[in-house]
Amino acid sequence: MLNPGTQQKIPVTLIPGDGIGPEIVDVVERVFDALGNPFTWDKHQAGLNAFEKHGDLLPEKTLASIRQTGLALKGPLTTPIGGGFRSVNVRLRETFQLYANVRPARTIVPGGRYEKIDLVMVRENLEGLYVGHEHYVPIGDDAHAVAMATGINTRAGSRRIAKFAFDYAVRNNRKKVTIVHKANVLKALTGLFLETSKQVGLNYADQIEFNDRIVDACAMQLVLNPWQFDVLVSTNLFGDILSDQIAGLVGGLGMAPGANIGEGAAIFEAVHGSAPDIAGQGLANPTALLLAAALMAEHKGLHKVALDLRDAIDATVATVDGRTADIGGKVSTSKYGDLLIERIRDKK
Ligand code: NAD
Repeated sequence: MLNPGTQQKIPVTLIPGDGIGPEIVDVVERVFDALGNPFTWDKHQAGLNAFEKHGDLLPEKTLASIRQTGLALKGPLTTPIGGGFRSVNVRLRETFQLYANVRPARTIVPGGRYEKIDLVMVRENLEGLYVGHEHYVPIGDDAHAVAMATGINTRAGSRRIAKFAFDYAVRNNRKKVTIVHKANVLKALTGLFLETSKQVGLNYADQIEFNDRIVDACAMQLVLNPWQFDVLVSTNLFGDILSDQIAGLVGGLGMAPGANIGEGAAIFEAVHGSAPDIAGQGLANPTALLLAAALMAEHKGLHKVALDLRDAIDATVATVDGRTADIGGKVSTSKYGDLLIERIRDKK
């Protein structure tokens, strides 16, 4: 399939990653071939395998490819423990200024605890308490007597993420944005975020309803009545925690995709890690990475590709015979890929 605008396929940096990464990326490649792949994959390494081959978790060649394509689909990466390694994910976010983290959660597997969930968490990805300004203050012979961390939120960063959330809501026919904060206690740090986000929301008042929730009450409401929410927007730490909570509402990590969006680049990934405990056993569920690839297709305006892929996933996991072990079935990673491909071909 060709990109309607340019009649050319869209280059994407494809990072298979570690652990279950290559197995689930293989399914993505096969399924996209069946969909008439609108992308060309520029494959590069990152993570533990890159470290073993090139002595760097994030080789320059991989960065150069993303710089050129502005688009990446990333398998999970193992971060070696100890040795002062910085998270590759954080390095990618900072390098490409991927300020918005988008995590949609939609019920796909029927019969779970929550039916008909359809929420999107938009998280600020560069500021807040994750700027890493931390230190210890020694007292007497205790070098770690006091630990301190500084959070930084800026008006410009808050405005940018709020605008992203409201624009996303408009583009995706959403009705409401909930601003999540802790401005009753962290009056400056999250007060600024709340104040700025509300100002942004007023510009969309004729299209999108908005309200705000204190983060602790929001966490409880997400369990009691998640259907009251539509798009949520929050600062880095709260967004990180709530997005995992939201993934839990729809069956956990195997079903949760994420997008990291900046002005000049966007990186799509599964929320889960490299799952070394099940790597190479055909047990991995590739759905999260497939859904991430669907987000990437949508990001490039390829809505039909995304729709066809989601339809195939929905229809396949609707019965237990189409499910991998993590969601109560027995189907292997590659057999699940085969089932998706059959559905896609049948529909054509
Ligand atoms: P994990 O997400 O890899 O695994 C947690 C549990 O979920 C494991 O039992 C695993 O088997 C299961 N699981 C995860 N994904 C699955 C899937 N697609 N299908 C079926 N089961 C699945 O978390 P972890 O064990 O804490 O981390 C392992 C490694 O991954 C670490 O090195 C960590 O740093 C890294 N990590 C990477 C990313 C990323 O690249 N985005 C995210 C989280 C963790």
